[in-house]
Amino acid sequence: MSLEKTPRGRVLVIGGSLIGLLAGNLLLRAGWDVTIFERIVDNLEGRGAGITILPGLVSAFRAAGADVSEQSLGIELPARLALDRAGRVVAEREFAQTMTSWGSLYESLKHAFPAERYRRGMTLERVEQTAGKAIAVFTNGERIAGDLLVGADGYRSAIRAQFLPQAKASYAGYVAWRCLADEADLPGADFATLFERYAVCVAPGEQGIGYPVPGPGHSKRPGHRQYNVVWYHPFREHDELPRLMTDDSGRYHANGIPPALLSARVRQEMIDRAQQVLAPQFALALKKGRLHFFQPIMDLDPPRLSFGRVALVGDAAFITRPHVAMGVPKGAGDVIELLRALDQHGADFTAALAQFDNARLRVGRAITARSRYLGAYMAAQLGSESERQQAEAQRDAEQVMMETAAPIDYEALAQAR
Ligand SMILES: Cc1cc2nc3c(=O)[nH]c(=O)nc-3n(C[C@H](O)[C@H](O)[C@H](O)COP(=O)(O)OP(=O)(O)OC[C@H]3O[C@@H](n4cnc5c(N)ncnc54)[C@H](O)[C@@H]3O)c2cc1C
Repeated sequence: MSLEKTPRGRVLVIGGSLIGLLAGNLLLRAGWDVTIFERIVDNLEGRGAGITILPGLVSAFRAAGADVSEQSLGIELPARLALDRAGRVVAEREFAQTMTSWGSLYESLKHAFPAERYRRGMTLERVEQTAGKAIAVFTNGERIAGDLLVGADGYRSAIRAQFLPQAKASYAGYVAWRCLADEADLPGADFATLFERYAVCVAPGEQGIGYPVPGPGHSKRPGHRQYNVVWYHPFREHDELPRLMTDDSGRYHANGIPPALLSARVRQEMIDRAQQVLAPQFALALKKGRLHFFQPIMDLDPPRLSFGRVALVGDAAFITRPHVAMGVPKGAGDVIELLRALDQHGADFTAALAQFDNARLRVGRAITARSRYLGAYMAAQLGSESERQQAEAQRDAEQVMMETAAPIDYEALAQAR
């Protein structure tokens, strides 16, 4: 792709994962001079697991230059089902949806972005601001100035921490344990239906989600796909979580343990526990799964999203519980609104960022509110016996099945509030 002769200004994007790449591609195509700075040196391919394609995701990716369609990206499923602890189907309904893998999305965006504008091994330390410039200061001592700095540095955003030190993410009381299992390792008799359905598991005190995603090389051929499992399981914050985040050498990873360092003991413990508490199909997929990792579920509603020449997007802005499957569409919506505001206000960055802030705060709040509602059952699991009983009495398998990752027009919802 070619840039306009005179770029509209220099944009520094911090974080080169899905939302950073989406921002980089969209801003570049809108005539900005963009560089992405990513702290991780290696490719990020192996990082994520499954992603539900919700409305708006594919159009945003196409606008960003990714040559994708819903069909090319994912596996189309016609229906959903719910399994109980014993693995019996307790609800089933038509519900067409397409599932893809994090890797397929990442690849499509990375391919669209010029490699010479993507700088790896660049860890942002802090941002300084002068009149009309944001200066990114990196841990290697480099200082780079831009007209705008986009913070796409994820849920532990250093940029958010700098500008909003009081906005701390709070742990919701449970983790999402995730893995991908190769289809070839899963017996056809048990999994034939599961490879055609989006499944939820509603075992007592537990919640699981399972669905097929493309396999290695983005293959969608039967026999070559993968099964994605997300298992929500309660853990206490102060004594149990640290143990999960300690590797086999005894090192504690306060900022999240990388999948490769996950302790073999903890992994085995989870596989064993799954046999006792989850539907056997899910427990088997966890046993056979090769990419095990987990994310503590956090909540964060920030009071602002922009600070001078700095704008936060994606998980750096809001942290949304995954039950809504809105992480990527929300991040895409953040970037699209940022572009719209910049287009409308020309050189007036103050007005542009105020518009962005106002619009995306409302949408982000609508999404996080919904995600907490969907996660309330799991959040109750560390509560008192009566709280757990109440949550159990209120849970309905069919409702969980239909509400999880359901398409909702949050922009309209935010307008109506
Ligand atoms: C269990 C689970 C299931 C999910 N399912 C879905 C789903 O179905 N659909 C969906 O849309 N979303 C889903 N999500 C959410 C989705 O994965 C995230 O919202 C999305 O990937 C966030 O992308 P991001 O680019 O904002 O952040 P990240 O992917 O966290 O990327 C941040 C990047 O910034 C880099 N970085 C961090 N700090 C610095 C620094 N100081 N300097 C330079 N670089 C830095 C990091 O290395 C990283 O590459 C799910 C999440 C979970 C936990």
